[in-house]
Amino acid sequence: MPLKIDIVTILPRMVEAPLAEGIIGRGIARGLIDVRVHDLRDHTTDRHRVVDDVPFGGGPGMVLKPEPLFRAVEAIRAERGDPAAIVLTSPDGIRFSHAHALRLGAAGHVVLLCGRYEGVDERVRANLATEEISIGDYVLTGGELPALVILDAMARLVPGVVGDDASVARDTFAKGLLDFPQFTRPADFRGLTVPPVLLSGHHAEIENWRRREALKRTLERRPELLADARMDPLDRAVLEELLKHAGPERRETE
Ligand code: SAH
Repeated sequence: MPLKIDIVTILPRMVEAPLAEGIIGRGIARGLIDVRVHDLRDHTTDRHRVVDDVPFGGGPGMVLKPEPLFRAVEAIRAERGDPAAIVLTSPDGIRFSHAHALRLGAAGHVVLLCGRYEGVDERVRANLATEEISIGDYVLTGGELPALVILDAMARLVPGVVGDDASVARDTFAKGLLDFPQFTRPADFRGLTVPPVLLSGHHAEIENWRRREALKRTLERRPELLADARMDPLDRAVLEELLKHAGPERRETE
């Protein structure tokens, strides 16, 4: 069964164009991901297809009205079945992470609601959305880019979407560690050379080097990830060793 994703937006073209491209576009064409984009205005009942209104209590900007969003979700439910999650994109939501992408992707059917203007009526958050997700601590003009970010992260975890499943399993965050450095040809670029071990053809040594570099990079850049990383005994041994070496050096730089 393909992963079903429904996106509700007032700017359907902003979402549709990127979905036609690259790995996601191919996944959709192959039927591995089943995406529908819904124009919020199709779910209005007035002649002018109005989706927003001024905030009660005054203040600047406009707020997305509850009714079109509720009606859009009702239409999705009738046409596409009960979604496992109705996600409202929101800068004050829970910060999106790999764990969300895994859980939502496994849920099978996800609706993504894109806010605009000052945001959406609070009753949408409280009585329609099942969760609110932020893609980071900054404010965008709408939920379309966040919806695409969430979709992309979920979709590339669907088996078959990324050609090589092994590469997905090895990526940054999959194990809870950062990825190791990658090099490609030429081996000498303007005097900048590639670590010799990668040219050696010794698979075990290459594996060891990569393991060590991934741990080193995680330790240097995101040490807090190590607490929850899925490490095997060899990873732990290498980490111990790195910590021993890192200890005095770090103190020197302080
Ligand atoms: N007044 C709101 C901001 C609204 S931005 C506030 O201060 O919180 C308009 C819409 O853009 C939001 O409803 C949401 O759907 C989307 N959006 C903006 N920044 C976002 C972020 N960091 N993550 C997820 N969605 C975001």
